[in-house]
Amino acid sequence: MEKQDIKNLSFTELKMDLSTLGFAPYLATQIFSWLYKKGANSFEVMSDISRKNISRLEEKFYVGGLSLVKRLKSKDGTEKFLFELADRETIEAVFIPAKGRNTLCLSSQAGCKFKCSFCASGKNFVRNLTVSEITSQLSEITNITGKAVTNVVFMGIGEPLDNYDNVLKAIRILNSSGGFNIGARRITISSCGIIPQIERLSDEGLQVELSISLHAVDNELRCRLMPVNKKYPLDKLIPSLARYIEKTDRQITFEYVLIKGVNDGLNDADKLSKLSSTLNSKVNLIVFNAQDNFSCQPPDKETVSAFKGRLIKNGTFVTLRQARGEDISAACGQLRTAHSG
Ligand code: SF4
Repeated sequence: MEKQDIKNLSFTELKMDLSTLGFAPYLATQIFSWLYKKGANSFEVMSDISRKNISRLEEKFYVGGLSLVKRLKSKDGTEKFLFELADRETIEAVFIPAKGRNTLCLSSQAGCKFKCSFCASGKNFVRNLTVSEITSQLSEITNITGKAVTNVVFMGIGEPLDNYDNVLKAIRILNSSGGFNIGARRITISSCGIIPQIERLSDEGLQVELSISLHAVDNELRCRLMPVNKKYPLDKLIPSLARYIEKTDRQITFEYVLIKGVNDGLNDADKLSKLSSTLNSKVNLIVFNAQDNFSCQPPDKETVSAFKGRLIKNGTFVTLRQARGEDISAACGQLRTAHSG
């Protein structure tokens, strides 16, 4: 019988599997604690489980993990990790330490289907990540850095809502007190706007943060920048966000990457304010991170400042994301693309 990666199981599934195998129910709590609180990468190290039980567990399960290929540290403290998966695919995760919090940016897929024109990850799609591959990014980085992760953002490679079931299962492990115990409000899903999955998420009873990659405020430009807009246009996306806000009582964030001469005009700022004012939302501006093989360029500082100033003048709640790790290719997908050539 083929062995199963134990880290693909939810707590309930693990308890049921163990019960079928005749184990005591408390073993699931012990195993979860070893896997997620202590970062165990084998059954061998689970010192409070008997040898006999470890042998029996090893007959049925294995403990999945990732192989570190590259670790780059920026002068601002941001660290980027390239991991290899069992099938030799690679994924990235970024660790961003700041005062009072350590944020981890996770990948949810190997590649991405959505082909946003400014994104290195959208160049190819290979497959969804498993639950184990998602949570292992956190375990491995905690083990490597020795620092606890306080916040998680699904803003790495892939569209998290396109791998809905595995991402949600991973989030429940991140969130559970027996798992990583990270508060739901400290977990952010960033999506390009997959409407059916936003509707599903509205009904999950989870208080996770939702961030929408907007980047343009009219359908014509958004279709050019983000082909997903052809299937899920703004006039359908906005009502689905309104429903999410109503159901979850959470404010959403619009991510807006400023690209020189494309979406950085004051008229764009006015349209963005107008759209944001229709929902309980805030805007997070990101200056495009210049990359090889892309014709897009970042706007100059004056343009960024004028754009932000206009939003503030219009009464829009806005933040400007500080560029982190620019010296280590920290934008989504850049390291993976460089590695695979
Ligand atoms: S921005 Fe997000 S959705 Fe778009 S191609 Fe990149 S990873 Fe995919």
